[in-house]
Amino acid sequence: MAMKIHHLTVEDAIRSLNSRPEGLSTREAARRHTEFGPNRVEHVRREPLALRFLKEFTHFFALILWLAAALAFVAERLQAGQGMAMLGWAILGVILINGVFSFWQEYRAEQALAALENLLPHQVKVMRGGTVKELPSAELVPGDILILQEGDNIPADCRLTEAFGVRVNNATVTGESLPKARDAHPSAADDLLYAKNILLAGTSLVSGEARAVVFATGMHTEFGKIAHLTQTAGEALSPLQREIARLSRLVAALATLLGVVFFVAGQFIGLTFWESLIFAIGIIVANVPEGLLPTVTLALAMATQRMAKRNALVRHLPAVETLGSATVICTDKTGTLTQNRMAVKEVFLAGRFSNAGELAPDESSRAFCETALLCHNLQITENSELLGDPMEIALVRMARQMLPASPVYPKVDEVPFDTDRKRLSTLNQTPGGRVLHTKGALETVLPLCTQVRIDGETLTLDAELRARFIAAQETLAGKGLRVLAFASRAVAEHEAKGSLESGLILLGLAGLEDPPRPEVADAIRKCFDAGIRVIMVTGDHPHTALAIAREIGLIRSDTPVVINGEELRRMSGIQLQLALGAPEIIFARVGADQKLHIVTALKRKGEIVAVTGDGVNDAPALKHADIGIAMGISGTDVARESADIVLLDDNFASIVAAVEEGRAVYENIRKFLTYILTSNIPEIVPYLAFVLFKIPLPLTIIQILAVDLGTDMLPALGLGTEKPHPGMMQRPPRARHERLLNWPLVVRAYLFLGVVEAAAAMAAFFYVLHTTGWYYGQPLASADPLYLQATTATLSAIIVMQVMNVFLCRSGTESVFTAGLLGNRLILWGVATEIALILLIDYTPWGNLLFGTAPIGLNVWLFVIPFAFAMLALEEVRKWLARKTILEP
Ligand code: ADP
Ligand code: MG
Repeated sequence: MAMKIHHLTVEDAIRSLNSRPEGLSTREAARRHTEFGPNRVEHVRREPLALRFLKEFTHFFALILWLAAALAFVAERLQAGQGMAMLGWAILGVILINGVFSFWQEYRAEQALAALENLLPHQVKVMRGGTVKELPSAELVPGDILILQEGDNIPADCRLTEAFGVRVNNATVTGESLPKARDAHPSAADDLLYAKNILLAGTSLVSGEARAVVFATGMHTEFGKIAHLTQTAGEALSPLQREIARLSRLVAALATLLGVVFFVAGQFIGLTFWESLIFAIGIIVANVPEGLLPTVTLALAMATQRMAKRNALVRHLPAVETLGSATVICTDKTGTLTQNRMAVKEVFLAGRFSNAGELAPDESSRAFCETALLCHNLQITENSELLGDPMEIALVRMARQMLPASPVYPKVDEVPFDTDRKRLSTLNQTPGGRVLHTKGALETVLPLCTQVRIDGETLTLDAELRARFIAAQETLAGKGLRVLAFASRAVAEHEAKGSLESGLILLGLAGLEDPPRPEVADAIRKCFDAGIRVIMVTGDHPHTALAIAREIGLIRSDTPVVINGEELRRMSGIQLQLALGAPEIIFARVGADQKLHIVTALKRKGEIVAVTGDGVNDAPALKHADIGIAMGISGTDVARESADIVLLDDNFASIVAAVEEGRAVYENIRKFLTYILTSNIPEIVPYLAFVLFKIPLPLTIIQILAVDLGTDMLPALGLGTEKPHPGMMQRPPRARHERLLNWPLVVRAYLFLGVVEAAAAMAAFFYVLHTTGWYYGQPLASADPLYLQATTATLSAIIVMQVMNVFLCRSGTESVFTAGLLGNRLILWGVATEIALILLIDYTPWGNLLFGTAPIGLNVWLFVIPFAFAMLALEEVRKWLARKTILEP
């Protein structure tokens, strides 16, 4: 049997791919790229498009409309000549247009999300021509030497050539959910999938650091081969989706009930079966808000675009709105609240503090700087630029200044950093033997030390010296500096790896400055005003955390609660829940899994929790929170994939901007809901009048559809894109139990605006009839020009009223004139289209034929316009009263 790549030694494996440890040359890489193509796995759809298209025709609203159409056709069968077939076709048309429109909306929204995702860098680190380069993962070719670290997605199938503490999560390919250890040694396994030296594309590095040679890219990878089989589980419904579903069912059930009641009523008062049936269908069609679903999708999609402009990328559409209801934001400190632009400020050596720039050139400083120079995970490019953690970069910079000529000894092993250990150790080979260098939080380094280096002497680290270092750390941390302890020792040739980190010599402390982002203080204030609590959760020292928190205004009182990881570990769920009741609270020195506990406790308190994260260990918290927010710059691939939202600039202020947009979306949905529901009343009242007063039917079903699916649509979309207004962030988050459709909204739409519109519509109808001498009780043929003109007047009146209404709906409490009339372009376009449509319907032969209308005189329009202004006046009074009582619908 031929040797497979996992059977070979590292050297042979690299040679088998015609590569070298220092990577391919740029030219060779370019050549291979044309030969093997880009490293990309064709995107797999969750559901076939056709199926999703079909779904647009089988949801609840659509089913009701199908039923209405079927009834119409049955009626035509039983008794031809009543125009029922025409109605049936019209309803089918509605279903079709509505379905296609919704599908198109959703498809576009999804494409837009996918396009946004492409804004995220999917960069990988590769050795090319002897130096480290960052490239888009699509440019990888077989033979490339990858540099990987904790949290990275594996971009291609590759064989390890160097590995420190590597564990992988292979769940996406093999289904195993526990992380598996991996190393670079040749493997005896038969199956490549289970070889211990193989990393598979589509999986991720849970811990450690590695180099590996790529042997398969794109569709040739194991992941590429099974990609067409993968299925993702259906996504859970967001609160908004649940709410919309509930609302749809409610409205549709109400419509159907009304339809049935009216059918029976019609039969009672002696209408023919057909008359009653038309009537029932009319009621149903009038009440179903056909345009609602696509409008909601569009409103959300537009909000994602606006959020992207403010540096928050939304990965799931409904997250937009969930973010708007957030009550707590748990945020990281480093990089999110602060700039992550580190500089070493002060150093504590040999019992003395000194400024970083003014280190005495003595033995203590040199030993300290040597550890700083070597103990890191940075990659160094050809022009000795440093790639990686800004804190480590700052430390190496300081060390280089002190020791410009010091050789960089190769790293032969390491014990990786993680948020639980809070330290990093490297083993370096020097001509005089191996040396272990450790840096990390003093709490985790101090217990490993037995000696201390002071003025070129090595002393026993007694209790007094320990206390001195602890006091020094608190002094530095109290100034808001991030403190790291440094230690090292010589290591004998064959010492066991497990006990490397012991018996260390403590060298000193470094205090690093990381200034807060300038815009954060403002953002925090906004959160206070908006009733959103901000809780800092950091791995840093409590003093550092507190100093920064005060600087940005997160902590204002003298008695904040500061809980550290140790205390947190001892707390029960209930104790934690109670502690979280404190108005000001900070979590410091927390470990990897503790964020999840905090999130869980907050959720149990009934909060809507947004949480930020960047590391692999943050993934569970990001998934469990109501809104997981990952960092776009410093975040690992694993964190980003667990998140609902990715921050392009890692900035806390962007979260607050996104919350604002999220709140706006909810408001906007309520605005167009009010608008759409209002026109239901002038659509229903004609039918009521028809039954109760035996008058000719003032509005036909087709005309109702013209409003619901024609003229109402664009202005409603316009309302869906209203910008956030300043007052939005001066209110507490909406209560969890608050409904999209609540009583004040229903009362405003149905019993107030709707009634005024209905009055206008009915008045217009009778106005036309009376000017031509019609008397009560006179029957009218459905083709009588007088009748056609009268229904046209009803329809036109509704449109005029809705034109006014769209401006009224822009705010629930603010006067129309406060916001200005011209603020929203889409609304203006919507109104223009609305007017154009009604003119086409009223004054073209085509419109007349299709909608059963006839041209009406200017006098009719002039008759209706005062009603619109009356509605404006009434609504201004209502808003004025609402502002006084703060009773907003
Ligand atoms: P933060 O919440 O500020 O991002 P981290 O979890 O990144 O905190 O770090 C927690 C602590 O771990 C730091 O205060 C520091 O003491 C230590 N630490 C962080 N990064 C490193 C590193 N690269 N090497 C050694 N120690 C580190
Ligand atoms: Mg960090």
